[in-house]
Amino acid sequence: MNMNFHMPTKVITGRDCVKNSAAELRALGGRALLVTGASSAKKSGALKDVTGALNAAGIAFGVFDGIAQNPTVLSCLEAGKLAAETGADFIIGIGGGSPLDAAKAVAVAAANPGITIDGLYSLDWANLPLPVVTVGTTAGTGSEVTPVSVLTTPEGIKRSIRDARIYPALALGDPSYTVSMPELFTRSTAIDAMAHCVESYFSRAANDISKAHAVRGVRILNDVFARMVKPGYSLTWDDREALYNASLYGGFAISSIGTALPHALGYFLSERHGVPHGTACAVYLPAFIRHNEQCEPALTEVFFSETGMARQDFLQTLAVITPACDVKLTVAERESLRPRWMNNGSLMKTWGDVTPDVADAILAELFS
Ligand code: NAP
Ligand code: ZN
Repeated sequence: MNMNFHMPTKVITGRDCVKNSAAELRALGGRALLVTGASSAKKSGALKDVTGALNAAGIAFGVFDGIAQNPTVLSCLEAGKLAAETGADFIIGIGGGSPLDAAKAVAVAAANPGITIDGLYSLDWANLPLPVVTVGTTAGTGSEVTPVSVLTTPEGIKRSIRDARIYPALALGDPSYTVSMPELFTRSTAIDAMAHCVESYFSRAANDISKAHAVRGVRILNDVFARMVKPGYSLTWDDREALYNASLYGGFAISSIGTALPHALGYFLSERHGVPHGTACAVYLPAFIRHNEQCEPALTEVFFSETGMARQDFLQTLAVITPACDVKLTVAERESLRPRWMNNGSLMKTWGDVTPDVADAILAELFS
């Protein structure tokens, strides 16, 4: 099988890797803009470590802490303006997928003053984005190592920018920052990593290297999930490190392959029903596995053999780990979603023919 892989981000992980990053950061310039959510950068301890490293390196910095979950494109343009006005040489995103995705768009906007929303999405950028450093505080999105920024448009739709120019220059991953995450987000983000691995594995675009990353990610997650399902189990630091690594493997896998059916059907649950991203996608994993069993039985068999868990155990574990998603959809809402299931890139990468009727049947089964 072929390989096709380009992932230019320098990745450094481990305890205290941010504290020890002054030289790496100094190489990117003398002034940075830090892009964060309201509180996660502080709660996790990441902000303190980043500012410590910047001070040690003699790098001046400003902070933009206005990034919400499902970040808006407008907040990114606002932060980009601030970065340009303050002469930032590079951007540091600190947080979960939301601030990390935002940092990539901020880097584009900072280098292209006056860019419009259409200009940002058109990928027709006059200047290269500023370099981006990602400091993750969740373990799931893998955004640290992807060329993707998922932003919410003024119309309330989650829409991605995918371009090799927004690969972060540097990813600094200290799993200690994930300890402060509430339990529900720990599970929702971990299951997002599982979705990335499973979706990229069962993608028409999959290749040998993406599958190797996906299998490694699933095996790590299966191992940690087997402990997490035990009542009262508390994650150890080693578990946290394993989840963080699995998230990066999922990121490597989707960096070139993208996602499939679960992510395609998941976005509206976050947009309209406030379901956290990982849960919104993972809720479709059992249906996705069943779909692949029908379209690609041999591939599905190889998947379970390579990832080392029996089908039934895998589905049972997913059911326990995935947080509840108590959404009810009316027929009218399902009908309003139909246009989204046509010419959808992630659905087209899914095996079989995922027609709007197929997508609608999955929604009807889960949310009626
Ligand atoms: P998130 O939206 O970044 O954060 C979720 C919540 O968790 C926020 O309230 C956040 O607080 C809080 N939080 C984060 N880290 C914390 C910590 N260590 N301690 C305490 N609270 C913490 O969650 P996410 O699931 O990581 O990211 C989801 C986003 O990533 C979605 O928009 C999704 O579309 C995107 N995504 C992108 C890619 C990609 O390849 N680019 C892949 C998958 C998903 P604050 O609000 O204070 O930050
Ligand atoms: Zn995801």
